[in-house]
Amino acid sequence: MKLWDFSSKDIGIDLGTTNILMTLKGKGIVLREPAVVALDQGTKEIVATGKEAKEMLGRTPENIRAIMPMSEGVIADLKNMMRKICRKYNTGKPRVVVSVPFEISEVEERAVEETFLQSGAREVYLVDEPISAAIGAGLNVIEPEGKMVLDIGGGTSEAAIISYNGIVTSNSVKIAGNVIDNEIVEYLKNQLNIVIGLATAENLKIELGSAEPLVTEITKEVRGRDVEDGLPRNITISSKQVENAMKKPVAEIVETVITTLSQMPPELAGDIIKNGIYLTGGGALIKNLDNVIASKTGIKVYIADTPLDCVALGTGKILDNIDKYKEVLLNHKNK
Ligand code: ADP
Ligand code: MG
Repeated sequence: MKLWDFSSKDIGIDLGTTNILMTLKGKGIVLREPAVVALDQGTKEIVATGKEAKEMLGRTPENIRAIMPMSEGVIADLKNMMRKICRKYNTGKPRVVVSVPFEISEVEERAVEETFLQSGAREVYLVDEPISAAIGAGLNVIEPEGKMVLDIGGGTSEAAIISYNGIVTSNSVKIAGNVIDNEIVEYLKNQLNIVIGLATAENLKIELGSAEPLVTEITKEVRGRDVEDGLPRNITISSKQVENAMKKPVAEIVETVITTLSQMPPELAGDIIKNGIYLTGGGALIKNLDNVIASKTGIKVYIADTPLDCVALGTGKILDNIDKYKEVLLNHKNK
């Protein structure tokens, strides 16, 4: 059984739309970087990556932009990340389990495989993101019993019903953390005549944002630019305002859950009622989102422990017990 002879230095990777995480077998998460590269638009050279690049967003003239994982900039950066981890932990040529968004095309999948092969991997296995999220959340995806996860990341929200090593029903929408940040920017521009940056909007979302009114309203002072005269201004924003700004994308995410539930085979309905819905990804931390989904669906909702880490932890669990999980990999659409 050489194929499944995974060594102790194998690497699990969460290729998220906003965060890239790597796990090393036996060590847990060893790398956590925003999927951002800062490019010099003139020379096309990478001037910063990861956290450093994220901090530069919106603070430098024109030449910095966020790039999604599949585009060239981040692919180049992925190679660097992978090589750095291989060197640091002396992994030799590791095998790699990569969690990829369920919706990516075969061409993109091949690009991902190729990237890791070129940066030193011996073999590359792909796993669908909702499955690794479910495994990372501690769900048993092997038994023929329905489990449901809703993973809300930066670029996409994916609702999936999983049973017997595979995805039975799923829906992915491009409404997630980034869209919510944009809605907050738009709302403040339209309602309060103030323009804020995306990083400020993200902070407002994290600190004040909620899916239904908070028991005790909270406020935060932010700095923006007046739409009228263009001058900098400080303004106090309330949780109620952020909640209003987020209403539409939140409703669309809830709608995705309802659609997915309505599409599942009836045999699994009882399982989902019994097991509940698990929230993973950074968006799982949106205050009161669990309550809203529970009240709209009538199904219990659980926020996974460390939701931002679930997908990466799932790839790690797969590496730890590759025999147990081989169907998850073998059943992949391209295998
Ligand atoms: P991806 O898998 O797409 O890379 P992640 O699961 O890492 O995404 O989640 C990133 C998103 O989660 C970002 O939009 C970030 O703003 C959001 N996020 C992180 N923490 C919180 C929080 N406490 N409340 C709401 N959103 C959060
Ligand atoms: Mg993710």
